[in-house]
Amino acid sequence: MREADGLYFTPTAQVVLPRYPSGRIVLLGDAGHAPGLGGMGTGLALIAAYVLAGELPEADDHPTAFDTHESRIRPFVDVCQRQAKGADIYLVPTKKSRIWRRNQIMRMLPYMPGKA
Ligand SMILES: Cc1cc2nc3c(=O)[nH]c(=O)nc-3n(C[C@H](O)[C@H](O)[C@H](O)COP(=O)(O)OP(=O)(O)OC[C@H]3O[C@@H](n4cnc5c(N)ncnc54)[C@H](O)[C@@H]3O)c2cc1C
Repeated sequence: MREADGLYFTPTAQVVLPRYPSGRIVLLGDAGHAPGLGGMGTGLALIAAYVLAGELPEADDHPTAFDTHESRIRPFVDVCQRQAKGADIYLVPTKKSRIWRRNQIMRMLPYMPGKA
């Protein structure tokens, strides 16, 4: 970063919408329910798309498919978004001691049980 010619910053944010669909459009992935750091954003985006792809051919019309999709996916979104809140203190800490601790934990990960 210190040696880069250009540096781009953008905030990481959580997206919380009261409804994912509007008319013939439904928002998925970060656009609809970005969890923020530590909230499984990619997995959530893929699962939401997969569930919607399953609901569309099953339902009589797209509003029904959108409603079913929302009722199935929102509880999972809530879990991921809850999990993400508070993860930033571990993933992007501001204090030197916490940065050191985070880096040590990251270095240990390849040696921890559960590795595929
Ligand atoms: C630093 C960082 C680390 C992360 N680590 C993880 C991780 O370890 N695990 C995890 O699961 N998730 C992680 N995420 C979150 C994950 O990257 C996102 O949740 C995921 O990429 C969301 O996918 P998406 O398809 O919804 O959006 P995106 O991947 O953002 O895709 C949107 C696409 O739309 C394009 N686009 C935007 N506007 C337009 C337009 N007007 N016309 C055409 N195209 C357009 C963009 O260029 C982009 O390619 C991380 C995110 C960040 C920032």
